[in-house]
Amino acid sequence: MKLLIVFLMAALLVASSEAQLERGVKGSVEDAVLVSADDWHGPVAATPLAIWSNDNGTVKQPLLILPKEVSSGNRLGWVEQTDLDRYGAVAVLRTLEAGNITAIIVHGSGDLAKSLVETAHKDGIKAYITATLELPDNSNLKTDDIMHLTQTSNVTSAAQSAFLGEIGLSAPSQNESNVDPKRLQKQSDQENGSYFCPVNPDVRDGLYNNIEKLIEDYKVDGVVLYNFGFQDENYCFCDFCKEKFYKDTGIDLTKIYSSSYNLERWKQWKQEQVLDVVREAKNITTDLGPVKLGVAIGNPFDRSQGYNYADISKIADFTVISPVTAADVKLASGMTDRPVYVRLSDDYVEYTLSAQNVEGAVKYIEDVTSAGAAGLAYEYNVVYTPLWSELEPPSNSAKWLLEQLGGRTLGLGNVSWKCDSNIKANNPYELAEKISERWKSSPGAVIVGDNYTLGLKASTLASYLNWPVLFTGKDLPRETGSALKNLGAKEVVIEGEISGNARSNLSQMNLSLIDDSGDLLLREMKARGFSPNSVVLTNSHDLSLLPPIPKPEFKRAKVGDILVDIDINPAKIPAERAGEIVRLNITLTNANTDVAKDVQLVDLFPSGKLLRWPKASIGEVNITDPYTGEESKPLNAFMDGSLLFWNLDKLEPDKTASLAMEVEILYPMDAGWVQRLIVESPSRTAIWNRMSLLSVRTTGP
Ligand SMILES: [Zn+2]
Repeated sequence: MKLLIVFLMAALLVASSEAQLERGVKGSVEDAVLVSADDWHGPVAATPLAIWSNDNGTVKQPLLILPKEVSSGNRLGWVEQTDLDRYGAVAVLRTLEAGNITAIIVHGSGDLAKSLVETAHKDGIKAYITATLELPDNSNLKTDDIMHLTQTSNVTSAAQSAFLGEIGLSAPSQNESNVDPKRLQKQSDQENGSYFCPVNPDVRDGLYNNIEKLIEDYKVDGVVLYNFGFQDENYCFCDFCKEKFYKDTGIDLTKIYSSSYNLERWKQWKQEQVLDVVREAKNITTDLGPVKLGVAIGNPFDRSQGYNYADISKIADFTVISPVTAADVKLASGMTDRPVYVRLSDDYVEYTLSAQNVEGAVKYIEDVTSAGAAGLAYEYNVVYTPLWSELEPPSNSAKWLLEQLGGRTLGLGNVSWKCDSNIKANNPYELAEKISERWKSSPGAVIVGDNYTLGLKASTLASYLNWPVLFTGKDLPRETGSALKNLGAKEVVIEGEISGNARSNLSQMNLSLIDDSGDLLLREMKARGFSPNSVVLTNSHDLSLLPPIPKPEFKRAKVGDILVDIDINPAKIPAERAGEIVRLNITLTNANTDVAKDVQLVDLFPSGKLLRWPKASIGEVNITDPYTGEESKPLNAFMDGSLLFWNLDKLEPDKTASLAMEVEILYPMDAGWVQRLIVESPSRTAIWNRMSLLSVRTTGP
């Protein structure tokens, strides 16, 4: 019987017209292979290890590409008010959580900041809010940002101002009129600054009251002093400073530039003033909470704003500094035994560290952490840079799959998963060499140069032949040479172009060189009597796992004389996560010259959608269970959905009413799903959104 089979196979061999390459012989491989995503060489070399053909068919071990482990200490999130306004508290938190942050610092105020603290606590994440001497809601940057948002949103000017009003921003003149100019910092010519003066006793009281409010009402885990010093070295010449400086030093504030001693004394005095604020804040946080006191400043060695880092860092429970060199971080963290965090912005990542240079950014993070920083504070927009996907742990689906798979795992490279065995290497050549040791023998290997696209081709051919993939540079690397020797290889397939040097190095090893001009895989299959019955198309631009920047969507309808504008933000939410938030801003504008009376907006949101935080500029909002009429809660919203009523007694001509709220999707959606936000509109009288088009879809896997 055996003889017969051998005979038959020999007959088949003769029958195949073209010469075929002999297959390799694999040793043992774990049940699942996990490979790091930080370098394309890993997944390419791992492919023939996990998936290969032999004469009986194809062997497929699960192969997962996972993010690499980044040792970046504790991870903090830094959230601005504009982030909350744009994306909503829950969405911001969930995105940060996906990157393993353990605490957030919110530079904001109001309901959204408060709800962020609540949600963070539910998720076991610490929440800190900043206390500052900035003018309330008057940051030009912030106004510009939001103005830009509303302008690009195609809404009417009336709707724009309603929107700005709704989120607590209005015409700048109004803000200034609310501010007592005596409280502002001043230059020597009495020009007003844009921060309150930290020496003014009323200002200090206001700041301390705010800290108390944050602790008692917002239930924060800590308060972070931020922008609470002097605007720059040209401030402050306000009346309070004049008086107190004279009282403390006997020097007239007009004389400070007359001698270097006076100037030095003034600088010292300013640092003492700022330090007084830190001390008092520390007393409050200790007595009232106790909660933590953090202090966020810029460069730790810049004292132009009166921040004396050396002293401050000994009082505060932790400090947050701007990105400085690893050497400076070492110096700064050596000056205190309290944790020091480096605050990383998207601008710093994209422009200073360079967006393309993700490896460099990761290295910076690891460098400052090993230099003594307790960790990094990531500004929210960093989640939209290529860096973020490097920091993210394995996705929910990857975790789930790994749990289902069970069995033994093999980790290749720096994988953020605890594996049963690991192959680690100092460079891609060494990694490929170590992977090739899993073959008992192989008559050949597929060689590829520094080219990911060719690497993809090399991996499929290698899988089919059950040969390892090895890499080459300008010269043949020592590791690749020794791998070929250990395999007992007699021939190599060269995928695409490699350098002349590497080619002659290979020839000197007495290997026969086979060039794959692209059709070698097909020829090999044909020679074995196979032809492909399907083709998988891929591209070599799939290395970026960036989360997409949430994009809003705008819808407009006209119902009678009422213009309905709806702004859905974001229109796409991440898949696989329950509790995703879509923010709805609905504006009604009366386009008639008559007053519209008894305007009513009614919408039914399908089951699994919970409406939260409704805020209407005018009128009354009522959200109930559509069947029982009871108050809408997560459980009944999950079963029955939510019914929204918005009643306005009247809407004046040309006037706009706005309603902002969050829609929480209570269940995780699969990738590619599209779900309606509103099922039907059981309107009786005036308006309902003909927004059966309203929907939310998911992004990414
Ligand atoms: Zn002053």
